[in-house]
Amino acid sequence: MTSSPAVSYYRATATPYEPFAALQGKTDARIAIIGGGYAGLHTALGLAERGIRDVVLLEREQVGFGASGRNGGFVFGGYSLGEQSLLEQQGEASARALFRLTTEAVARIRRRVAQYAIPCDIVDEGVIWANWFRDPAVLRQRQELLARHYNVSWEWLPQHELRERIHTQRYFDGLYERDALHLHPLNFAIGLAGAAASQGVRIHEHTDVWKLHRDGLRWRIETAQGAVHADQVVLACGGYLAGLRRQVDRAILPIATYVMVTEPLGDRLGECLRTRSAVYDSRFAFDYYRPLPDTRLLWGGRISVRDRSPRGVQRLLTQDLLRVFPQLKGVRVDYAWSGLMSYARHQMPQIGSSHDGLWWAQAFGGHGLAPTCAAGDLLASAIAEGDDRWKQFASYGLARTYRPFGYLGAQASYWWQQSKDWFKTRLEG
Ligand SMILES: Cc1cc2nc3c(=O)[nH]c(=O)nc-3n(C[C@H](O)[C@H](O)[C@H](O)COP(=O)(O)OP(=O)(O)OC[C@H]3O[C@@H](n4cnc5c(N)ncnc54)[C@H](O)[C@@H]3O)c2cc1C
Repeated sequence: MTSSPAVSYYRATATPYEPFAALQGKTDARIAIIGGGYAGLHTALGLAERGIRDVVLLEREQVGFGASGRNGGFVFGGYSLGEQSLLEQQGEASARALFRLTTEAVARIRRRVAQYAIPCDIVDEGVIWANWFRDPAVLRQRQELLARHYNVSWEWLPQHELRERIHTQRYFDGLYERDALHLHPLNFAIGLAGAAASQGVRIHEHTDVWKLHRDGLRWRIETAQGAVHADQVVLACGGYLAGLRRQVDRAILPIATYVMVTEPLGDRLGECLRTRSAVYDSRFAFDYYRPLPDTRLLWGGRISVRDRSPRGVQRLLTQDLLRVFPQLKGVRVDYAWSGLMSYARHQMPQIGSSHDGLWWAQAFGGHGLAPTCAAGDLLASAIAEGDDRWKQFASYGLARTYRPFGYLGAQASYWWQQSKDWFKTRLEG
């Protein structure tokens, strides 16, 4: 029997850093941020860049412990909610403005990686959306929708070109999103934390916030060994629910998703991929993958309301991998893990305030790298400059998810969509 895969490639290859000490005793801050994922870190850095340095960031575990240190590393425009639905809900001008926030965020991520010299294996070579189905209509429609309503251009990849880049008979044609990239997500988070800390933000890891309440005109935040008094508080706890505000927590459905990393493939990687772009496919429950610098292949997919052991993740994802690349039969999987995404019922981020100095940024779903950066920028400029652009998200409020029943609905909808894709695949033969 082979040994179980180790838990996280990202943790195993994390940039070493001096851990941020846990909060001890009482302190004061103008702004306190709870959660050391991208949403919290981008907000902290956005504040520091605007000259507001009296900021404390509190993280229960380590920076990037949550989804931000476990994800696929794809950085691209858009949200979990599809572009067609966004257009129907918002109308062209608002949908386009919301979408633009994320393409600007892709550029800001690029800039931050360069400006702060963050060593995160950035590969600025786009993302391919590969068609699982013979029928090109879905791709054509999306390409046209993006061009017409969002002013975004994705390049058409005919079958022969796609198959030159990706050596599989599984796909037919594809779209190439040039303005996208991929990176080592945990090292990106560690780099953001370092950049914020070097500008005066006080970061405390291993600091679980267990109580948040009003104290006169300010907020009091209690942790195991300390407390913070702050004028403003930002809750950025994603799917790792903070348990601090019922209204905020119950608007989230934490959903698990899985990732694994193969052994270094050497020349075998070239038998699968002749591109450094990241790839995902056109099904609802899509596979996504990308080559890593040491010739490993990172492979992700599936969503579930259940967490799974590394061996369980390996078993499921290896089946998916071999359906696309049968030439990798027998490949060893060195790492496998899961992470929690935070979903809202409306599938859009929840960026808001209760107008008493409490802010939140959550529900980035499985499409969070660019939107968390956009959210951090909106909140930082709201707090620092009174900018009210965050109100563009006003219609995506804290709708209840009705856990645990919401899980049944989410799982049923996933299975339904998955079975539709399965039938379509069978029909196409
Ligand atoms: C496996 C996986 C693959 C994904 N792939 C992609 C991808 O390729 N591209 C993409 O765009 N998006 C992807 N996503 C989504 C993306 O990672 C998330 O949307 C994003 O990281 C969310 O960031 P966040 O800051 O909101 O939450 P998180 O990163 O989850 O951070 C929340 C933090 O809050 C902390 N916390 C919670 N409660 C407390 C408390 N009481 N006190 C102190 N701290 C607390 C937690 O410990 C945690 O570190 C993926 C997600 C997963 C799980």
